Amino acid sequence: MFDIDTIREDFPILKRKVHGKPLIYFDNGATSQTPTQVIDTIVDYYTNYNANIHRGVHTLSQEATDKYEEARIKIQKHFNAKHSYEIILTAGTTESVNIVASGFSSILKEGDEVIVSALEHHSNIVPWQMMCEKTGAVLKVIPMDDQGALQMDVFDQLLSNKTKLVFCNHVSNALGTINPIETIIHKAHKFGAYVLIDGAQACPHIKPDVQELDVDFYVASAHKMCGPTGVGILYGKQELLELLPPYQGGGEMIETVTFEKTTYAGLPHKFEAGTPNICGGIAFGAAVDYMNAIGFNVIQQRENELLAYATEALAQIEGLKIYGTAHKTSVISFNIEGIHPYDIGSILDKLGIAVRTGHHCAQPIMDYFKIPGTVRASLSFYNTTEEIDTLVAAVKKAKMMLS
Ligand SMILES: *Cc1c(COP(=O)(O)O)cnc(C)c1O
Repeated sequence: MFDIDTIREDFPILKRKVHGKPLIYFDNGATSQTPTQVIDTIVDYYTNYNANIHRGVHTLSQEATDKYEEARIKIQKHFNAKHSYEIILTAGTTESVNIVASGFSSILKEGDEVIVSALEHHSNIVPWQMMCEKTGAVLKVIPMDDQGALQMDVFDQLLSNKTKLVFCNHVSNALGTINPIETIIHKAHKFGAYVLIDGAQACPHIKPDVQELDVDFYVASAHKMCGPTGVGILYGKQELLELLPPYQGGGEMIETVTFEKTTYAGLPHKFEAGTPNICGGIAFGAAVDYMNAIGFNVIQQRENELLAYATEALAQIEGLKIYGTAHKTSVISFNIEGIHPYDIGSILDKLGIAVRTGHHCAQPIMDYFKIPGTVRASLSFYNTTEEIDTLVAAVKKAKMMLS
């Protein structure tokens, strides 16, 4: 049973005021709020067992190491990875993508082809461009359509024996589109290409099964799924993580070091140079526990109801256009004719409502629609229909003030 009042009690920040009004937080696509269960885990770490891991023989260090490795196993189970060492704990999605792109910079050859989707976040465009510049590989793009869906027939035409890698987000952060990643993975594999899926925007809503998907790499950030900032995962199939060279040199990622030659540590340590975000990793485990205790079926049902409610109410405002109407998560990206999205966002803030305005790190999508940006309301299971009513009234007010 989903009891919204009990759930909201878990998020102390939802009680605060902004400009004298109760906070209404609709910027969940940028970062989610943090439940007490995760905050308590962070406080417990710094209060009781803050120590460096994998090194010390002393009790605190062993306790911290145990908790960190327990968190890795929680995350492994959540994503259903075959082995816990296939879960690399990173600083987040951006770093995870860079580890893979930088690794393939020493593997790809001139004339190889790489395919990305037109719906990508900049963090899933720029690293591949850098990789292609270094190697002479060619970057191709799967275009989108007016609904914000990928043109899969064009993807079929782009694929060939030259294709080595395909990158696509599971869910678009700008529009919320849920991409057909099962089909993308299946088709890419037929040509022997590897696939990286950016799950940063999917994981707050969907529980992916990396073995069932047969995906080669899957990346995500804790801070969009009720966890802290500065930590995320790179999942990779064992043989591929072994194939890639290390990303950074430093402590913890080596087996032996002499000035003549260094041999690297095994997985996952090969990609975890230096002191990691220990507290963040442990708190990520607590966030995964928190979301699973509610259940992803329950989360999805709740968010779909909120999405339908908000879409219907907003669509009744004259001159309001919603971008991205394909199969999607609880994201509504919109504009009002003749008004800059930034101006709407500023008025909403004065009324206590947090939304995102701008290009959402996805400029190619904005170029497609020939707009400077959108107002994005991204809803979470802890939002309410009353909050949506307040948003709709506030948007109407902003429209009146600005037109
Ligand atoms: C947020 C986001 C990223 C970047 O995640 P960071 O946590 O900032 O590294 C990448 N891709 C998508 C789809 C995102 O939504």
